[in-house]
Amino acid sequence: MENIRIQDDLYTYVNQKTLDELVIPDDKPTAGGFAKLADGVEKIMMGEFEAMAESKSYPNDYLRRACELYAIAKDADRKAAHGIAPALKNLSLLNEIGSLEDFGRVYKKLLARGIPVPFDLGADTDMKNTKQRLAYLQGARVILPDATYYRPEMAAQKEQLIGLWTNATKMLMTKTDLSPEDQEKYVADTLAFDEILAGLVKTNEEWSKYVEMYNPMPTDNVAGMLSTVDFKKILNDLFGRVPETIVVTEPRYFGSFTSVLNSETLELYKHWAYVTGLLRGCSYLSEELRELGGMYMRAITGVAVMPSIEKFAYNLASGTYSEPVGIYYGEKYFGEEAKKDITEIVYQIIDAYKERIKTNEILGEATREKAILKLSTMGVKMGYPDKVRAIYEKLVFNPEDSLYDIVLTLSEIRAEDMFAKLDQPTDPTNWAMPGHLVNACYDPFVNDITFPAAILQPPFYSLKQTRSENLGGIGAVIGHEISHAFDSNGAKCDENGNINNWWTEDDFKRFEAKVQQMIEQFDGIELPWGKVNGAFIVSENMADNGGMAVTLHIMAKMEGASYEEYFCNWARVWCQKARPEYSKLLLSVDVHGPCILRANMPPRNFPEWYSAFGVTENDQMYIAPEKRIVIW
Ligand SMILES: [Zn+2]
Repeated sequence: MENIRIQDDLYTYVNQKTLDELVIPDDKPTAGGFAKLADGVEKIMMGEFEAMAESKSYPNDYLRRACELYAIAKDADRKAAHGIAPALKNLSLLNEIGSLEDFGRVYKKLLARGIPVPFDLGADTDMKNTKQRLAYLQGARVILPDATYYRPEMAAQKEQLIGLWTNATKMLMTKTDLSPEDQEKYVADTLAFDEILAGLVKTNEEWSKYVEMYNPMPTDNVAGMLSTVDFKKILNDLFGRVPETIVVTEPRYFGSFTSVLNSETLELYKHWAYVTGLLRGCSYLSEELRELGGMYMRAITGVAVMPSIEKFAYNLASGTYSEPVGIYYGEKYFGEEAKKDITEIVYQIIDAYKERIKTNEILGEATREKAILKLSTMGVKMGYPDKVRAIYEKLVFNPEDSLYDIVLTLSEIRAEDMFAKLDQPTDPTNWAMPGHLVNACYDPFVNDITFPAAILQPPFYSLKQTRSENLGGIGAVIGHEISHAFDSNGAKCDENGNINNWWTEDDFKRFEAKVQQMIEQFDGIELPWGKVNGAFIVSENMADNGGMAVTLHIMAKMEGASYEEYFCNWARVWCQKARPEYSKLLLSVDVHGPCILRANMPPRNFPEWYSAFGVTENDQMYIAPEKRIVIW
């Protein structure tokens, strides 16, 4: 391979050696970057679980329960002895549905027991008054990864994926107690019901505009849209009362709801619920069924084998008790010194944003003040929470039950807790992510950022890395998350996280023009596995742009700043090897752009990139000054 120049391809220049050596594990779609850190955390915590179980000494009751669940989930013989019976027993609830009236009667049980329903109800933050909650209504999910796969121009891909799904599902169906004819019929009916849904559900691109989910409507009107079921009775069963307002997240779907569920489609629905419900719960049955249940997902992500039973058990247990597990991880593996240092960096970045906003050219004076207020009130959650949410007290199970029934019990407890929350105020001290997760986020409805302990590791961050490296790593990622407060979604929420227009008309027009430019900068870029949809990933690209702008602002004032270290570490954090099937899938399901673009696109918008490496119009990573975009 010829020598790659940094001026042409920063990502490959920095990561080539690592990429050559990286081997994607058989049970994973990717290796390197985030996956490498996540694998490390998984290994550490599995060791912890094993040690706790061995010594029978647990730091607290939550960890005891987590270890107990871990032991049950990795006992293959125990699961084999239960076989498919627990799932069939659960799905037999569908036999009680002979009419639409019956459907309404058992709806709450279906929802709480994880049996798919054509509409989901829950209580969530009121986006216009984030201190309280509202009831939210959402449609069903389709079999393929995105509704766009059902469009005529995607016919070939659709046929291939539906083929994979059908094969895997038919094999699974042979394990049920249905006759071969019924097995065929159930699968065919599931596909027929899926077609009805596909024309109505939102695409992933539509979901990415999450402020557009907020369509509060009087319950009477919503009940009119869902006239084939006794909607008010269902609400009363769930919430103990009929709320006045329902947020309809998918107006198109519910506008046609009577064509989804009516007396003619009821049978199709039941078969769809049986098949997709069986698939959903397969992981908690025997190893043979876990294998069959995961076939389709593995096929579309290019993964050869399922995770080992130990990894599966760990992920179930640590996911179920995520908050206490995250606190344990954070306390043990993330020091106070690092927490202090990183918190300092966060406030430095927030201050830098404030400085930049004061001279920002797209905002007028009044809008600048509002933007600065949003920064001043932004919450910062670093490492791990100091308390465990009350729900974890309630997550108790009977260890004599089958794993499937244990998962069901826990799901029912969670559902009950969520329904009861409708009338309780929201709690902004809750953490959006647990301490052992390798990720970070901005919550637009709380106006806070969360950085779990697990992401605060090299190459993102280390006390041993230089300041420039840390700024190119975690610094730019912190800047990215803060920038979500001002991306195409976040710009519509105020300092309290409420949807509220704090912009003047002219300022917002200038902002929208920048959003459009950012869409165009990425739209249609060809990669070996497909084309990029600029509109779908625009919020993340704006956030990367903001994160880079603000950290370069700090670099400019810093003594001994090294742009080489900065840009190289920026490229290092995106180092990832992925299976081609998975890369292709991500283009339609992930709001983040492909790693190589995240590494190589943002730098070319900034003068520091050009001066640091003498990049000119003869180099690949050059764009003309008039095409460079800096928003914040
Ligand atoms: Zn983001």
